Amino acid sequence: MTPMNALPPRSPLTDLSHQPRQSDDSRSLLLRLWRDQISSHRGRILSVLVLTIAMATLTALYPLVIQRALDMFSTHDERILYQVPLLIVAITLAKAAAQYGQTLATQGLVLVVIRGLQGSMFRHLTIADVARIEQDAPASLAARFTTDAISIREAMIRAVNSLGDVVTVVGLIVAMIYMDWELSLIAAILYPVAAVPIQRLGKKVRRASGNVNEQIASTAAFLTESFAQARTVRVYRLEEREEKRADTAFDLLHEAFLRIMRGRARVDPLLEALGGSAVAAVLGFAGWRAAMGGATLGDFSGFVAALLLASRPLRALGALNAALQEGLAGLSRIFSLIDEKPAVQDHPQARSLPAGHGHLCFDTVVFQYADGRMGLNGLSFEAQPGMTVALVGPSGAGKSTALSLIPRLHDVTRGAITLDGVDLRDVGLDHLRNAIAYVSQDPLLFDVSVRENILMGRPGATDAEVREAASLAAAEPFITALPDGFDTIVGPGGGRLSGGQRQRIALARALLRDPRLLLLDEATSALDSENEALVQEALGELRAGRTTIIVAHRLSTVRSADMVVVMEDGRAVEHGTHAALIALDGLYARLVRSQGLEE
Ligand code: ATP
Repeated sequence: MTPMNALPPRSPLTDLSHQPRQSDDSRSLLLRLWRDQISSHRGRILSVLVLTIAMATLTALYPLVIQRALDMFSTHDERILYQVPLLIVAITLAKAAAQYGQTLATQGLVLVVIRGLQGSMFRHLTIADVARIEQDAPASLAARFTTDAISIREAMIRAVNSLGDVVTVVGLIVAMIYMDWELSLIAAILYPVAAVPIQRLGKKVRRASGNVNEQIASTAAFLTESFAQARTVRVYRLEEREEKRADTAFDLLHEAFLRIMRGRARVDPLLEALGGSAVAAVLGFAGWRAAMGGATLGDFSGFVAALLLASRPLRALGALNAALQEGLAGLSRIFSLIDEKPAVQDHPQARSLPAGHGHLCFDTVVFQYADGRMGLNGLSFEAQPGMTVALVGPSGAGKSTALSLIPRLHDVTRGAITLDGVDLRDVGLDHLRNAIAYVSQDPLLFDVSVRENILMGRPGATDAEVREAASLAAAEPFITALPDGFDTIVGPGGGRLSGGQRQRIALARALLRDPRLLLLDEATSALDSENEALVQEALGELRAGRTTIIVAHRLSTVRSADMVVVMEDGRAVEHGTHAALIALDGLYARLVRSQGLEE
């Protein structure tokens, strides 16, 4: 495995590393969401508030209209013919308009907040340590942007709507008190009884929701891995094994969903039963009072209407906690991701790279991976400007690790690496990486045009420069033969091109960058001889006159190097030219004889 383009080392099905932090209480999560994402959208917040309150107030007017209509009805008042219908039409129209505006404003606010969260999460992940990114399966990380974002969106919409519900309920209570305060008192005592069981259910739902989102992420990770390996699966007849893995993943997902559904399913019936009992009690009392002649028909009907109208928003408020808890679980995971501090960072006095021609020194460099394994164990070598240094050694000797420390994908654990006399850790990451080009063993391209892929080497380069780089990399002839030439889209990973073509495009990108330091991870598998010759030609062009560090697997590459550093167990055991090392008759000579280096 190479640290520069490593596969996720852990099984996605067992990766549960991002459980929500227990210490995150709901209030601090919400405060943070408000501070970081919501509070800056003042205009939107204001329109949501105004429209929600307008909508709720209009709802609270209904019982008053009913009361008035029934009173008119019982006194045979003729105004009932025009006044009541007109009033109802006016209220309904106004409510419809407010509802339309409120939905747009709420969704607008919620979506812009989710957009903001996704943006900050992605910004964070682009600067996070490569080691951190490689720790999770890509699909698990992607799930933070999709499933977690959806839970948060739903919870926020419910939360905003609950504001309307609160206003509606308050309005209806005012209307009820206005109509009959004694009855209102009874209703007020009965409703809150529901609060305790609902709180308990909410907590359960939050736990279950965290689990569901983790399972969705693991399942997505499993699916991407399985489809990406479609060829291996077929050739090695792994279908049954994959099906078993799929069954496990789907079963876990199924169970997680069942758990959350059970929690959710209990909320509504519970509220229904509690609400129903309360309504029955109030109705009984009210009916008794009306029969005793203590209230008009209008009062009674208006009151009952208010009570029934209040039951929907009250139920929604009861179910709010459960929905909020689901959103909070997602929010907690997103914030804990954003809060991870990258280990590789610019320090405050980071400087730019001094002028120079690429004098690179490894001084007793020790590097230990996070899991405790030693990548390097005191590696020292010096590459003079313009030199090509080949790193060779048995598998696991630390060659790729050494290469990955140069652009500071990791920082050294002990010892130091200097470029043109400055410790890499003192140089700003931008400056350092601008001076480096890297071509990996089997370069993956981005699914954009050939031109854009090459331009990544130096954004802003002219079309002529792109063509020149392509031509020096021996890539121009095949590019111009593609259906849309330089505008051809290369497919995911560059899959519509051959391995050799991808390599030449990666070399063109590196050439365009014109780096001070060139890092090459030589492909272990040989290309066909024609492609190989073309890639070698391009490589020769690229290496000319600049310091180049190659992880070498071919004898031809090593022969053409100015210096060979032979590595074993994370340190240099021999160095010199090919001829000198053969004469030394040590590890290098053995590697060559045992064909540890390909012809
Ligand atoms: P190869 O020629 O097979 O690619 P290499 O010489 O490039 O091997 P490295 O990949 O640098 O060797 O690995 C050096 C040591 O570091 C090995 O023992 C390896 O197991 C360990 N190692 C590499 N990558 C990681 C990682 N991401 N996490 C933990 N240990 C790692």
